Amino acid sequence: MQQIMNMERDKNHFDFVIVGSGFAGSITAMCLKQLGYRVCMIEKDKHPRFSVGESSTPIADMILRDLSRKYDLPFFMHLSRYGTWQTEHPEIICGLKRGFSYYPHEIGNTFSSNDDHLNELLVAASFDDDNSDTNWLRSDVDQFLAGKACEIGVLFYEEAEVVRVHRTEASVWEIAIKKDQKQMLIHSVWIIDATGSPHFSGKFFGTTSSADGFETNSTAIFTHFNEAGYWFDYLTSRGFNTKDYPYNPDHSALHHLIKEGWIWMLRFNNGLLSAGLLMENSDSSNGIDAEKIWHSVINQYPSLSKIFRYSKPAEIPGKFINSGRLQRKLNRSFGDGWIALNHTVGFVDPLHSTGIAHTLAGVEKIVNLFGKAGLNKIEISDIKIIQEESSKELKFIDKLVSMSYQSRHDFALFSASVMLYFIASIRYEQSRLKGDIPNTFLCADHEDLSAIIEETHHELKMLDSETAGQEQIHKQIETIRGRIEPYNSVGLMDPSKKNMYRHTAVNLIN
Ligand SMILES: Cc1cc2nc3c(=O)[nH]c(=O)nc-3n(C[C@H](O)[C@H](O)[C@H](O)COP(=O)(O)OP(=O)(O)OC[C@H]3O[C@@H](n4cnc5c(N)ncnc54)[C@H](O)[C@@H]3O)c2cc1C
Repeated sequence: MQQIMNMERDKNHFDFVIVGSGFAGSITAMCLKQLGYRVCMIEKDKHPRFSVGESSTPIADMILRDLSRKYDLPFFMHLSRYGTWQTEHPEIICGLKRGFSYYPHEIGNTFSSNDDHLNELLVAASFDDDNSDTNWLRSDVDQFLAGKACEIGVLFYEEAEVVRVHRTEASVWEIAIKKDQKQMLIHSVWIIDATGSPHFSGKFFGTTSSADGFETNSTAIFTHFNEAGYWFDYLTSRGFNTKDYPYNPDHSALHHLIKEGWIWMLRFNNGLLSAGLLMENSDSSNGIDAEKIWHSVINQYPSLSKIFRYSKPAEIPGKFINSGRLQRKLNRSFGDGWIALNHTVGFVDPLHSTGIAHTLAGVEKIVNLFGKAGLNKIEISDIKIIQEESSKELKFIDKLVSMSYQSRHDFALFSASVMLYFIASIRYEQSRLKGDIPNTFLCADHEDLSAIIEETHHELKMLDSETAGQEQIHKQIETIRGRIEPYNSVGLMDPSKKNMYRHTAVNLIN
């Protein structure tokens, strides 16, 4: 009888309860499980479900590969490159992402450029398709990873709601869950908040979240489209010179700069297009008709409106989503027996596609810590360090993103500002390739690098790219060129490249 009671007890006792089963929750759960911990994951929704945040980067791929080796989870390795993804898991939809591409548009005018690619910027992030990044169809990827977590022994409650949490005197969480109209009680030493939003910790740990202190101020309207036109077809059909292109821009993270902000376009292998409109300082709130705003903005730009002429919103999500202001950060991201993952801690903006990699960088640190220290030997000071680094990283990303918003009205200036992001990410990648994992994502704690980003950010804030004269803009671009010089091992801002950067990718074949 006692034995049966113990078994019953063990069934409901965990070392970790992870709330949220996006890729971050599932990856954390699997790594901890491989370390020998008892892990339970709780998801309010049901897979497959729509999720935004799709353009991966070389840094995300590198972290996935290292997690794969360290925790013996081979499918992370497969998902870290387009080639292996296609051979090992063709059933999971993704898109080929060879790099980052940027095109400016003017209200009322069709897109224009010249043979020197004055209004085009293509920065390769990989050498070939096989070793390329990917756009993740999150509904597929997250479902796959949650399924794998179950296969390796993570207990998963889907469509379940946490209704109460209580920390006992024995330093254990009692967690009441509601599922299928029934309530049950489980216990855990730790709760990991992988909800990707501030609400769970607000409700149960008394945290608050705000946009205070962010320089970036943006709102997103987005959905998935069927039958959207291809940008490369548009360019070639109008005779643009694409022979110097390092890759087909539909196989990249496409950024279209507009007066209001910018538009992302991410293509998947099944033809689906993820597209989103980012508006700076927009007063559009959740109540405003997102579809109406989308059409009113797109219709001002003839070339973009051509791309979307025959498009229809896809069945999933089946609507246009208005994010409201994107920038947010928790006032506290850990406490006695709980810790939040990076996307729960805060977010800046999708420009520069930092989200997936930043999230994974946080996952890696947290699972490393629990691997090294063991369950009850974690020093709160170590968690504090990780979370302080996360705050520093958000600030760093905020500066990089906001300076690009500020400079977007002049394409040459914008292109120069983006180089600071590439410098930071290449530095991180190169360091990691040598086996030296930087303490912070994008080397956000590198003093000299932070200083030049801080200075440039400040200057661009002062300079209004919409009204500044060409002489002033040229001077600013030259300043940026000089500043990145000590870090520029790949020839960024080399005029002879004519905005086509073919060899910027770090050789990630490891
Ligand atoms: C508009 C936009 C565009 C973006 N674009 C990019 C991009 O192109 N590239 C990039 O790298 N990053 C991008 N990001 C960031 C990216 O979305 C995040 O990095 C990523 O989603 C983090 O994954 P996650 O698993 O931590 O959280 P999520 O994907 O948010 O998953 C959280 C999970 O928790 C569940 N959940 C929530 N609340 C509860 C609860 N109370 N109980 C149980 N379960 C709960 C949710 O249902 C969900 O399944 C973008 C973000 C936004 C907002």
